[in-house]
Amino acid sequence: MTSIQNCVKCGTALPEPRGNRRRFCGPACRRTAEYEIRRLNRRLETMERDRDKLISQGDCGLQNMYGQTYAAELQGINRSIQQAEERLLLLLTEDETK
Ligand SMILES: [Zn+2]
Repeated sequence: MTSIQNCVKCGTALPEPRGNRRRFCGPACRRTAEYEIRRLNRRLETMERDRDKLISQGDCGLQNMYGQTYAAELQGINRSIQQAEERLLLLLTEDETK
């Protein structure tokens, strides 16, 4: 089990965890994290909608406006979704007691 020793929001070193695992250095970072969680949720919704659209369109054999193939575009969006979910998970696992 990895213990987090830095504030997940600003990176400030946290005091030695004793019992409860601390995730934030103070209320300001905790609050800011709540906003980030909301933004991440909105981003995830948009990205998942984009992915669904992409999948339903299927591979037409053309490149998108960034010159990506269908497979590369799909892979890119899946990676972005995964990254956002990992960040969300990190922010949401705060205040885990015992
Ligand atoms: Zn902080």
